[in-house]
Amino acid sequence: MHEMSLAENVLQIIEDAARADGFHRVRKVILEIGQLAVVEPDAMRFCFDAVVRDSLADRAILEIVEIPGSGWCMNCAATVPMSDIITACSLCGGYSLQATGGKEMKLRALEVE
Ligand SMILES: [Zn+2]
Repeated sequence: MHEMSLAENVLQIIEDAARADGFHRVRKVILEIGQLAVVEPDAMRFCFDAVVRDSLADRAILEIVEIPGSGWCMNCAATVPMSDIITACSLCGGYSLQATGGKEMKLRALEVE
């Protein structure tokens, strides 16, 4: 389950931000997860809760914003929506899609005290 190491990375980013900005409690964490990032939101929540226990983000609310995936179809020379990393082009039905959007996970915002 790679969500565990992703959750650890998120905590690392939060701790670095806390040092830089001088806050001591995190109430809410807003994460963006792209549809093509291969991150399971439920698994992410579970791992996040486990990882932040006894940290400055203990019991912080994790809000996940899902970012729709998109890809470039070489046949159609157009950007089309992609809900999955292996998906057919909605215009031509071909599989020459190159994922262009919704591929990553990133920290959008923190609510701190
Ligand atoms: Zn196409």
